Amino acid sequence: MSRWRVCGSDARPHLRRTEAVVHGQLAAVWLQDAGIWFDGSGVYNLDGPFIKNLAQFYSDSEWKLYDSAGNVNVTNTKEAFDGAARPDVAVQYQNHCVEGRLAWLTGGKAIQTTMLIPISPTKASSASSAHPGNFGITLDGVVIAESAPVDAILGAHTIAAFDHCGGHYNPIEGYHLHGVMGCGHLEGDDADGDTKMFGYAADGYPIHLPLEGAALSAANLDDCNGHSTASEGYHYHANGAAKNAILPCLMGEYDISTRAGGPPPGGPPPSG
Ligand SMILES: [Zn+2]
Ligand SMILES: [Zn+2]
Repeated sequence: MSRWRVCGSDARPHLRRTEAVVHGQLAAVWLQDAGIWFDGSGVYNLDGPFIKNLAQFYSDSEWKLYDSAGNVNVTNTKEAFDGAARPDVAVQYQNHCVEGRLAWLTGGKAIQTTMLIPISPTKASSASSAHPGNFGITLDGVVIAESAPVDAILGAHTIAAFDHCGGHYNPIEGYHLHGVMGCGHLEGDDADGDTKMFGYAADGYPIHLPLEGAALSAANLDDCNGHSTASEGYHYHANGAAKNAILPCLMGEYDISTRAGGPPPGGPPPSG
């Protein structure tokens, strides 16, 4: 099906650089295509066959993300993006692939988010809820968001495409991350079976890349995906992107004023 047009999150290097406020490092690999989708069960390439198969894949005959000529319905204007990337998706933007662009944000500029993150983390008396607000920030300044609201997105028969780094735009929060794909600035070596660090959680503890297989089993992670090692101290490991939950919760004290100000009216919500 060569006629399939692509859709996706428009996160090209020159765009993302403007959002990077910490180290300004660029992701190593940016692919100029439709990106990916993850829904809690898997990570999927947003190619023609996947889009064509949506009704069967989600067992819902109302899916039809393309027109009679085989072109994918894409939010290709700011109005369409604003109408589709929100909790109450306008009828005319249902069955669309939602593409956001930096140019469509207010003023055409990156949305700055300020988080207060403890330099010296302290453990809280109990784990946070699964919704502490934003979970943290990557080393190159991208907000680590809560889970994408997949039920709302799919309920409107939309696909809020992610780029190959697991991020996308919404009109309220700008560019933000829902899944960890190993992009961007990383620190540390892979000693002791551990993985590199890519960001800080809102409670100040480092977040490392996901563990897999035997290393995951051996790591003995706690309820919030954290553990302590001799060389790194206490730190988290992100879930794989398929889970649509970078972290399940936070174990440390965090500043609740760093919350994103409640569910954004544009989204999809919260932090769609
Ligand atoms: Zn570790
Ligand atoms: Zn989002």
